[in-house]
Amino acid sequence: MVIGILGAGQLARMLALAGKPLGLKFIFLDPTPIACAADVGIHLVGEYTDKALLSQLAEQADIITYEFENVPVEIIDFLSQTTSVYPPAKALLIGQDRVTEKTFLQDLGIATASFAAVSSLDELQQAMSNIGYPAILKTRRFGYDGKGQVVLHSEQDLAEAWLAVKNAPCVVEGFVPFDREISIIASRSVSGEVVYYPLSENEHHKGILRLAKNTRNDPLQAQAESAVNAILTELDYVGTIALELFAVRDTIIANEFAPRVHNSGHWTIEGSETSQFENHLRAIMDMPLGATSSIGYAAMQNFIGNVPANEKLLSLSQVHLHLYDKAARKGRKLAHATVRTESLEKFTDLIAALTKLARQSDDS
Ligand code: AMP
Repeated sequence: MVIGILGAGQLARMLALAGKPLGLKFIFLDPTPIACAADVGIHLVGEYTDKALLSQLAEQADIITYEFENVPVEIIDFLSQTTSVYPPAKALLIGQDRVTEKTFLQDLGIATASFAAVSSLDELQQAMSNIGYPAILKTRRFGYDGKGQVVLHSEQDLAEAWLAVKNAPCVVEGFVPFDREISIIASRSVSGEVVYYPLSENEHHKGILRLAKNTRNDPLQAQAESAVNAILTELDYVGTIALELFAVRDTIIANEFAPRVHNSGHWTIEGSETSQFENHLRAIMDMPLGATSSIGYAAMQNFIGNVPANEKLLSLSQVHLHLYDKAARKGRKLAHATVRTESLEKFTDLIAALTKLARQSDDS
């Protein structure tokens, strides 16, 4: 079977690496001439709007999926005329606009930060009387890894913040005083089978995920599963999804969902019975889903901008290195390492060692 993927970045590469043992072949469409998934499948180089290339992708692939959430929905509609595309376009449509997304979550009974849609400085000033400080101004569309976001501490910040977002339609949301950032990753198959991973506990710096760790019997697991299940059911979702959450004492507040495999689930590669990547593929092929139980303590450390010397990383036993084969560039995710061990003491030591190495090489 051939799986087509829109995008040929590291997520596409990891999907392909997970699919090879299942006998799957891969074809990617991505405008970047040198893309990191290119050596694990066929790479069609061209724009996502190129109808001839889209037709070629649809012809050669049995099922199509995507690795990023800004895929224009018209493209999914075009491909769907001939080939099954998962996750469903509705997930993209909702997830691409922060206001639509937060409204959708609230309609499902899932708590979010208080928010208001604003499209001028005047509207922002008015909204702040309800939202209160501190708050975060975010562009409604195309924001990721903290890009397109400004923290507002007082009225004095508003004019400059509005300039920074360049008049783009925005959402302003109350700052959530969270104890932890967590995410739940789940997969749902065409037949409706659903599996959930143990919550991931995530540490961000400058809006970019740095460290993600699995949890054991987290008190918020059941709440998170019920929230993500409501989303999966409402969207008739197929594939792997990630729901990013803030933990505030004993409750969850949803931030956003990603209709794809997710960076906070990379520890599932070595740390779970079945990885988020394999379960995404099984889900879209309507195969039985694999067990999501963790094998011990598991974590993932991202490497941004630079990768520490491979020898240093590989000298840490129970550490697994994943290089994305991407050119080094400031602030770019280039690789990650996962840790898996049965010993909590060893786990703590390995994370400390990895974090130290990552900080030394990080240029963001
Ligand atoms: P986002 O692009 O929405 O995922 O935001 C990136 C990061 O900014 C999050 O992982 C949080 O660390 C922080 N952040 C975003 N929104 C809020 C909020 N309403 N309250 C507190 N922190 C936030």
